[in-house]
Amino acid sequence: MAKKITIERICDMSVLGYPADSGAPHSFMLDGKDYEVDLCEGHAAEFYDLMVHYAAVARRVRAKTAPARTAARRKRAADIRAWARDQGIWTVPDGRLPSKVIAAYEARH
Ligand SMILES: [Zn+2]
Repeated sequence: MAKKITIERICDMSVLGYPADSGAPHSFMLDGKDYEVDLCEGHAAEFYDLMVHYAAVARRVRAKTAPARTAARRKRAADIRAWARDQGIWTVPDGRLPSKVIAAYEARH
């Protein structure tokens, strides 16, 4: 028998359980943390009105670049390479470490 599963998003601001509007969850960032919230049409309009009010006077900021490689990170990568070489699972001397090799190293240490 086939089953059909329907997922209904409910407005996070409503105690009455109104369905969220048809779009994706509304996302925003506050104090460096990312958030998502499901909102019905009324609360979505309220949310946008408030955000547009602040965005009008705010500065846009570029995404931060990845942190520079530190000596500690380089040493850890060298340790993982040495361990992988000793285990005979990976012998490439440089370049990006495969995530499977890192996961195997972390599982053993
Ligand atoms: Zn709502």
